[in-house]
Amino acid sequence: MLDPGRAVVMPRTIVGKGLRFSLRHAPCAHICRYCLISESRKGTALPWEGFERLVMRFHDWKEATGRDNFQIGIFVGPSFDYDINILQGVMRLYARRGLSFQTVNLGGLRIRDGEVLAAWIDERQAAGVTGFHTSLAGHGEVHDRWNGRAGDFAYQMSILRLAGERGMARREKLFLTQNTLPLFDRLLDTLDALPGELAGRNASPFFYAGLATRYEEERLTEDMRDTLPARITRLRSGKFDNWLSEREWIPVMLETADQPRKLQLKLDVDETNIGYLERTPCDDIVAERERQYQESYNAIPALAELCARYGDPENRRIYMMSRDVEGRWLDLHRQDTGTPPPID
Ligand code: SF4
Repeated sequence: MLDPGRAVVMPRTIVGKGLRFSLRHAPCAHICRYCLISESRKGTALPWEGFERLVMRFHDWKEATGRDNFQIGIFVGPSFDYDINILQGVMRLYARRGLSFQTVNLGGLRIRDGEVLAAWIDERQAAGVTGFHTSLAGHGEVHDRWNGRAGDFAYQMSILRLAGERGMARREKLFLTQNTLPLFDRLLDTLDALPGELAGRNASPFFYAGLATRYEEERLTEDMRDTLPARITRLRSGKFDNWLSEREWIPVMLETADQPRKLQLKLDVDETNIGYLERTPCDDIVAERERQYQESYNAIPALAELCARYGDPENRRIYMMSRDVEGRWLDLHRQDTGTPPPID
């Protein structure tokens, strides 16, 4: 291993390919052990209208300046437990991008029962929601433990059942770990017995981020990956179907290590910065955010050097993305040098 204290050479160049505006509007009622989002219970006092106005202004700017390839995204969360007026606002912002927002994520919803739950679903269906998305980590109590809420698996099943009976669809994200793998047949049988259209189903390991970084021992290994039943293998999602171990990722990552990293820049919007964002030209906001990202990367060695210092060619645990493996190296770099990882 090289001297971790030596000077940083040639940090990665960052190119902003878009902005993703984030509003912490709806607190989360889960405490998932694999949560990627820290402080999921912290909300903002910023009224919705200010957020929507800001994002719409960026769409106006994008159109007026012909930035066809610049992406404008939103994240309103961390849960989708929106009031109807917020739901309609989110739908308007999707429509401005030419997309339709029709699927509500069940992660982090407060518990509702009986008629209250039925009315909640009916209200969303009337507003244009056509389905729900569930994330499940195992079956029954194993899922409940991963999600930090007793009874959550049964609750999610009850929502999906009620929705299916109303003609609504469901999308499923199924986490694959060493302790959920033995439960997969039972999980798939339970899901297959639900009424309603299955609009999408995929299985995947956790991303390496947030709290999930604590569960490296739960990752599948190359051997497990190579012997998965066909019923699971066919659930690898098109976008993240490259399940490689660290030792397999390393040569792939080194092929493009000197290329600039293109990122959608995240921008948290809240009551403390809305005034600045409202009075500052869009170009300046983008340039400033790009500069902040670049500065945070300037403190980090280039990818090839990170790999030389921290890459583990013996690691046969499976990751979905090269970013996951890089995240591991950045954590090791922080442990060695105290340098925080770059903005992500
Ligand atoms: S539902 Fe999502 S935001 Fe909430 S704790 Fe779980 S992973 Fe985190």
